[in-house]
This record gives sequence, structure tokens and C-alpha cells, in this order.
Amino acid sequence: MKKTFREKIISKFIKLAKKNKLLHYPCLAALTVALGVYHLIRHFATNTKRYASVVFVMIFFMASCSFSFAVFAERTGFIRAQETYSAIVEDSDISLAVETEAYTEEEIVLEEVDGADLEYNPENDMSGDVYTLDDILENGEEYRTDNSLEGEGQETENYAFSSTDWRLVLINKQHPISEDYEFKLGRIKDNLQCDERIIEDLLLMMQAAKKDGLNIAIQSPYRTSDRQEHNFNKRIKLYMGQGMSYMDAYKKASQVITVPGCSEHEIGLALDITSDTFQPLIQEFADTQEGMWLAEHSHEYGFILRYPAGKEYITSIEYEPWHFRYVGREAAKIMYEEEICLEEFWDKYL
Ligand SMILES: [Zn+2]
Repeated sequence: MKKTFREKIISKFIKLAKKNKLLHYPCLAALTVALGVYHLIRHFATNTKRYASVVFVMIFFMASCSFSFAVFAERTGFIRAQETYSAIVEDSDISLAVETEAYTEEEIVLEEVDGADLEYNPENDMSGDVYTLDDILENGEEYRTDNSLEGEGQETENYAFSSTDWRLVLINKQHPISEDYEFKLGRIKDNLQCDERIIEDLLLMMQAAKKDGLNIAIQSPYRTSDRQEHNFNKRIKLYMGQGMSYMDAYKKASQVITVPGCSEHEIGLALDITSDTFQPLIQEFADTQEGMWLAEHSHEYGFILRYPAGKEYITSIEYEPWHFRYVGREAAKIMYEEEICLEEFWDKYL
């Protein structure tokens, strides 16, 4: 007669126990456990209704955990806001971009909201101030003119781009700043700072505009992560105060303010550029002489208009004719000529 699986297990243990008397009790214990597990598995495997109900309970439990996780993490400070964001919103991000309008990154940043927390002191933050080249250089002196433009620039055709090039680092909601990203801040003037490697090209660009009779002005280049986080958390508090759940408040805040850890201002590669006579960060800037000059010439100095009109569906940020990002001259030339944004550049060249 053919033995069942259960009988096989039992006879195996009995044989083992008979061979060695010392193993008698351990064998008995092991047999009990083995039979228990065996019966438990059979119990569920042979009854699909029972099995289905257990699976359903497990799925329900996991789903409810994933919703409460963000709240738990925020309350305990277990993980930081941007990590929460990427953990939860990564999958839903595409639908988020589709169902919501793109917003400008800066429009609400400076707005004051009650209940501001104390760690951040806006008085130390000069990034709202506006500087022209004359403000930066003082005494009306001249920055050296750029001779490198002639002759250079033609070599970009065979230029090999590298995905590890700091100038090309891709920062957006889907690509937050990595924790090991390193850069050195350089001082443009007073508290006006940015990545020190882009200052030379920045001043050359301002000098070139000045030679064309235009006074372009820079504001809020490097923005600390603290400031970004402060603004972001403030906004969440505001929405929660209006009765929203944490998740809804988080989602809404991330549409209006760049999620902390996802702004190019935080790594000193982005600048908001306007002029001495026109400083609001609004789309009308594009129609000013300076706005047109920048759109036409910034790439010659390695800067690109990071959020162009017509690319909102890719960048998920509204057209910002004032927000410029340094990518280096070779890449900027290609993006300008091919009318592609940084995300498209990555797809094509990296
Ligand atoms: Zn900006």
C-alpha cells in the first residue's frame, strides 16, 4: 500500500528515534512541529474559500499599512519628507502630473503663512534680493570679456557626454538630489551663492548682456534645503489646518512648491534671472528685452531655460522664462538648437 506524505514523515522520525535513544524526545518535538505545519498548510490549501479570506486579510493589512506609514514616519521623524515622498508617490507620480496643472516653482515660496517654525530665519536669507552686474562688481569695473566664444562651440558634434558629469545632473520630482551629491558653494556677492564652478560663466553672461545694453539681474540662486523644507512643511501645515489629511496636504503642497530635495536651487546650479527694471517672476518677463536676450544667448554661456513653454508635460513645471540652469556650453548648445529640455537630453544623449 502506498504511504501518504504524513505517514512517511512519521515513519522517518520513528526510525531516527529508534536508532538513537538520546534522540527520542527531540524527535518527538520535531515531529509535532512538522505535523503541525503540514496540517496547517493542508488546512488552507485544500479549502480555497478559507485560503482566499486569509489572502484578502493580508492584502488589506498591507494596504492600510502603506497609507499610515507616511503619517507615522513624519510624526516620528523616522524619515525625512523627500524620502517619504519618493517612497509613496513614486508610482502615482505619473497620474499626478496628468491630473494636475503645472505650477511655477517660485510663485508661492516667499508667501508668509502663520505658524512659521523658529529654526528658519528669513533675515539671514538674502536670496530674495536682486543683483545686477554693477551690484556684484562695484565701482563700475568690468568683468573680463570672453574670448573663448570664437572658435569654440563647433566641437560639440563629437562631444561625448557623461551621465556622471556634474553639469548634467538631472534633478526633478522623479530624481531627487542624491545624498552623496557634493558641490562647493562659491560667493557671488554677499550672501548670494551658487556652485562655485558656474560663477565665471555667469559673470561672463552678465557682462555680455551689459555690452548689449541690458542689465540682467540675478536672484535666489542657491536656496538652502532648510529653506526649501521650511516652505514645504509650512504649506503642509496650512493645508492640514484647513482639514486635509496629511497625504492630501502633502500631495497638494508638492504641486505648488518643489518637493525638498528636488530643486536645482538646492545644489546651486539654478538661478532666477530677471533685469534691473523688471523683477517679478512672471511669464511676462519673456517679452522684455532681457528675457528675449537670455532666451537667445544664455546657452552660449552654458545656461538653459530649464522649464520651457510646451514642455510642461515632461517637466511638470509651468513655463518659467526666468529660471536658468547651468548644464555647460556643449549640452546647452544642443538643447537650444534641438529645442529639447534636460529630460529629453538625458533620453537622447546619456
Ligand atoms: Zn528658479
